Parts: sequence; structure tokens; C-alpha cells
Amino acid sequence: MPSIEVAALVARIISAFSTSANVFQTWKAKRKAKNLPDQRANESNRLEICLSTSGPVVQAEYDRDFRYFGSRFASGDDVTRSQLQVQLITIQQSIIMLVQNALLSNVFDISYTTLIATASNVRQGSIAALVEQYQRMMAAQPPRPPPTALPQPGAPVDRSKADFNISHLYCGIALLLQQTSGPMPLRFRIGLPCAICGSVLPPRSLELVKDTSYGSSARLRITSRFLAKCHLAEKDAGYGCLLCEKAGKGITMFPDQTEFLSHIKDDHSFSDYAGENDIS
Ligand SMILES: [Zn+2]
Ligand SMILES: [Zn+2]
Repeated sequence: MPSIEVAALVARIISAFSTSANVFQTWKAKRKAKNLPDQRANESNRLEICLSTSGPVVQAEYDRDFRYFGSRFASGDDVTRSQLQVQLITIQQSIIMLVQNALLSNVFDISYTTLIATASNVRQGSIAALVEQYQRMMAAQPPRPPPTALPQPGAPVDRSKADFNISHLYCGIALLLQQTSGPMPLRFRIGLPCAICGSVLPPRSLELVKDTSYGSSARLRITSRFLAKCHLAEKDAGYGCLLCEKAGKGITMFPDQTEFLSHIKDDHSFSDYAGENDIS
């Protein structure tokens, strides 16, 4: 019997997340109808958000990888298939069944913390399985053109050129973070190298002090997520500036963090920062 393809497993995981969100909402409504006090409303909300946003985040990762490799990615390899099977079983047995049983047997005290941890693990595990498959397929590709084909640091890149391919420029993880509002991958937060390109990124936010036009100065917080979102495809190749891109200046690139941060501080204004969620 042929094993289920990656595309079908991803679809089942996404639908399982949506089922779990529905079952949890039903349980919550039933609990509310009984007027039971909820001292843990925060955790309950966090769980609800986690269950309802995880499907779209997994979908975004899959879509991005699929755009790059097409049906080969959809079919997938045995490693990814078995990893995704495990995630699917976990969400079915440790989330849906658990909440469903609580609902049917009128149990109104369940561990939100455990459920949040399980749901986050399934989400991260599913994304990691896809990212690793992407990485394996990438490694099996013929070598890329030499780095001389990359634009010079600080030089604008013309996205309208026929040979311009955004997925060659930014790292896959950076593209994922650009497309979703998902959290920073755990590995960056604990200082591990990027799963796709191998670059090590700053695990914490950085602060800059910038002079305002009123003669005072203001603190700028550049989050580690912003830097992750801008990192380029090759290992330690530096950063591409998303602020420049948003301002219609094309993509500008910087070989290291120091140059990139001074560019953010000196060449951009407070109004540029205002449109960027990961700078405050
Ligand atoms: Zn990377
Ligand atoms: Zn810029």
C-alpha cells in the first residue's frame, strides 16, 4: 500500500487544527453556559489562538516550499511522511480526543498549559519536517550560480527583472517570517544556526539610539525577528533591507549586522519604522 503523500498529510494536519479549535470553542461555550468561574482566561485565550493560527502557519510553509519544488515536494519522501504522521496522530489523540472526551463527560477543568505545549510542538514539528525536506531537496539540486551573480552590498536590486527570483535571495525561513506573523523559530531563540542556510542570528532584540528632528533622541528596538526576516539565503551572507523594499527603493543588501543596523538607523526615518511590526 503506497504511503500517504506529504500534501495529503499537511491537509489533514491543517484540518485537525481547525477541528481542535472548533471542539475547544464548543467546550468553552458549554463551560461558560454553566457559569463556572475562569481564573485562567488568559491561558484559555492563548490556547484558542494557538489552535486557530497553527493551521495557516503550516499551510504558509507548505505553500512556499511547494512553489519552489512543485509536485516533487507534494509527494515528498518517506522521512517527511513518517514525521508528519506522528504529528497528525499527536493532534488527533492528545488534543482533539482529549477535549472531545472532556466535552462529552462534562469535565470542565483541563490543562490549558499542556494543550498549548502539545499544539505548539505539533506546529513546530510539522514546519520542521517541511523545512528539512526542503533542505534535503535543496541539497540535491545542482549548485547555484557563483556569488558574483549576487548584487553588490548596498546596491538596489530590481525585482522587475526577468531573472530576479526572490526565493534565491532571502533564506527560506526569512521568507516564511515575511509571509506570516508566526513566532521566531525556537532554534534562533536559543542561538542555534538556521535550519536552511546555517547562519547564526542574534537571539535577542537590539537597541539603537536615533536623534529625532526635535533635537532629542529616541530608542529603537530592532527585534531579533526583524533580523531573521531579513537574512539572506547563503550562510552568513548578511541582510536585505525590508524597509527599503517597503519604501519602494528595491532591495538593498548588507554584508553584516553592523552595516545593516547603521543603515536602518541612518538611512531610514521614524515613518519607515512605523509600518514595521518588528521594530518598535
Ligand atoms: Zn537561514
Ligand atoms: Zn533600508
